Amino acid sequence: MKSTVRSNDVFGLAGPPPKDPAPGAVSLPAELRRRLREALDRPAAHQPDWADPAQVSQVRTVLESALPIAVPAEVDRLRERLAEVAHGRAFLLQAGDCAETFAGNTETPLRSTIRTILQMAVVLTYGASLPVVKVGRIAGQYAKPRSSATDARGLPSYLGDMVNSAEPTPAARTPDPSRMIRAHANAGATMNLVRSLNTAGLADLRQLHDWNKDFVRDSPSGRRYEAVAAEIDRGLRFMSACRADDAQVRGTEIFASHEALVLDYERSMLRLDTSRGPRLYDVSAHFLWIGERTRQLSGAHVALAELVANPIGVKLGPNVTPEQAAEYVERLDPHGVPGRLTLITRMGSERVRDVLPTVVEKVTATGHHVIWQCDPMHGNTHTSASGYKTRHFDRIVDEVRGFFDVHRHLGTHPGGIHVELTGQDVTECLGGGQKIADTDLAGRYETACDPRLNAQQSLELAFLVAEMFRP
Ligand code: PEP
Ligand code: MN
Repeated sequence: MKSTVRSNDVFGLAGPPPKDPAPGAVSLPAELRRRLREALDRPAAHQPDWADPAQVSQVRTVLESALPIAVPAEVDRLRERLAEVAHGRAFLLQAGDCAETFAGNTETPLRSTIRTILQMAVVLTYGASLPVVKVGRIAGQYAKPRSSATDARGLPSYLGDMVNSAEPTPAARTPDPSRMIRAHANAGATMNLVRSLNTAGLADLRQLHDWNKDFVRDSPSGRRYEAVAAEIDRGLRFMSACRADDAQVRGTEIFASHEALVLDYERSMLRLDTSRGPRLYDVSAHFLWIGERTRQLSGAHVALAELVANPIGVKLGPNVTPEQAAEYVERLDPHGVPGRLTLITRMGSERVRDVLPTVVEKVTATGHHVIWQCDPMHGNTHTSASGYKTRHFDRIVDEVRGFFDVHRHLGTHPGGIHVELTGQDVTECLGGGQKIADTDLAGRYETACDPRLNAQQSLELAFLVAEMFRP
């Protein structure tokens, strides 16, 4: 459904300003208001076909005064961290579910996913001797673009918990706008836990042995992790003996990100921050990305992203042209702010070595400092003989290797990886140290959408990527 502008819009896009606007909302500068209206009038791909437009309008009104999931100061802090990545002085680890679900939004899986991200970050920091910026696909990753409008049963496809339910009935698959409010509430609750864990001890480097879950501890990568952890322990004891400041050791920062897909949701989470000049933030997350299916240069997603101050990612599949890539850079990073734009390449292991070099060269020639990040998941999906959508660990590793080779050759920084994973012991991707085979997939295939690396495979990947930094 194409977004339409309604009279109760928080920024008064049409009609008089609302009686009880969100803070700062009434003073949206005229030029920004014009551009926002123009952006939302553009064609938008992959929007839900909501049955009741009046209800969508009511939901938007509720969300327009809903609390932020991320506040502007945090968003700016992430951009500063990402500037270090853009300059080649840090690495970006972005990871989490393909699709978060409301039912799966419980403490145990969240804690284990965060633990896995922290473990990977330790391995990467230690192996690559670079700070690691940690961003979860978390606290808002509730909407999915689908290649097909219907599923194998002929039902409308599941579009993420923000839009409909995965339950296979026609009623459950009907897009329901009130789900956007549940998505916001779930995102807020998740972010609350993430923030608490960041500061309340889970992320304390002195706890790093505890992050190794039992089912990982006895695997080869689990043992290798224990060895790294023991070395880090010695280093920490040394620092503490030197009375070195250990504030960095006690906590960490995990930022939240999701695909900015459903525009009725994202536009409702825009807030004007006037503390450092009027700037528009999408407070639904710290980092937002535009997916491979919605990156049309003439479309609403890119135009909306142009207007917000958040760090933005764009997924680039194997059909992207160097000229398109350069246009994303000019449009989304017009002022040349390092950390503003991340180009997330997901070319597939067979294409990355051919397609990526000319794209990187063209972008480098623009003079902008973008972050190059490799998503080795989405170009390497296939259906297994037993009928499961899966990915092979070897192809995932091979795409990252190709990505590193290309950047090494061109002298650019392989800035990060973007992976779908869970801290649970699932069987969704083939291979890895556990040698998960096609016949194993049925055992614990639990994803709501795409297959994720399990905790062991994630840790193995981190070790392999850390090694890629060595000449
Ligand atoms: C995703 O990240 O889950 C996704 C759908 O990716 P892409 O847009 O790259 O296909
Ligand atoms: Mn996915």
